[in-house]
Amino acid sequence: MSPAHTPIIYIISAPSGSGKSTLVNELLKLVPNLDFSISYTTRDPRGSEQNGKQYHFVSRAQFEQMIRAHEFLEHANVFEKDLYGTSRRFLKEAEQKGHDLVLDIDVQGAAQIKQKLPSAVSIFVLPPDRRTLEWRLRKRSEDAEEVIQRRLDTASGEIENYDKYDYILINDVLESSIESLQDIVLSERLRRLGQPLGEEEGRITERADHCRLANVKDRVKPILESFRNSPSAAQ
Ligand code: ADP
Ligand code: 5GP
Repeated sequence: MSPAHTPIIYIISAPSGSGKSTLVNELLKLVPNLDFSISYTTRDPRGSEQNGKQYHFVSRAQFEQMIRAHEFLEHANVFEKDLYGTSRRFLKEAEQKGHDLVLDIDVQGAAQIKQKLPSAVSIFVLPPDRRTLEWRLRKRSEDAEEVIQRRLDTASGEIENYDKYDYILINDVLESSIESLQDIVLSERLRRLGQPLGEEEGRITERADHCRLANVKDRVKPILESFRNSPSAAQ
């Protein structure tokens, strides 16, 4: 019998509105054998969201029952309001199918996964600056003003956690960001194969390395400043 596949887990976190869902959707179209873990949440569906597609939308009672039944790999209270959780089922299914798995989760969930599964690859998506994040949240026009303000306030705290992640992706020009994300995913697969790299494979790894935490610190500084200097940060 062939040994069981150990899925590579890719954790992707970002302040809401940074473009994470857009990037993940494109990534899943481009990379084969990569599954998306559909989280459970107690929040209401937004806009065109469908139950079982972006999320499994459940009641608080159902969510709490799942916690008691140890069905979650991690779960967290996000925005001090709603519960979100990653079901263990998706990891098991990826293992059986020989696929890898993408988790779109917040910084609290990412910390829980890293503790349980240290080989997980973590990626933090940053907007180019606070104004752009605000603009993207408004452009999406799926949230009430009060919700947008709460998400902006939460973002300021969340981005301070960027240095706990393996890779940082600054989502400025969408096409380049999609390429970078694909490079990160493929380079991690190549690394685990442990075989000598061909020319193209070497280029993929080199491009992915540009997004490694140690190589982006200077580019991240002005982004952090734009949040620290915002009016809501001074309150
Ligand atoms: P998140 O999943 O991080 O909350 P979304 O993927 O919903 O964010 O993106 C928020 C908005 O920003 C959407 O309207 C999306 O089309 C837009 N967007 C995403 N990435 C970019 C980008 N690089 N440039 C311009 N707009 C973007
Ligand atoms: P949204 O409500 O905008 O879809 O997501 C809000 C936040 O919850 C995002 O940061 C998203 O990554 C996070 N999130 C989504 N699913 C999960 C999950 O299963 N666990 C955790 N911890 N966070 C999640």
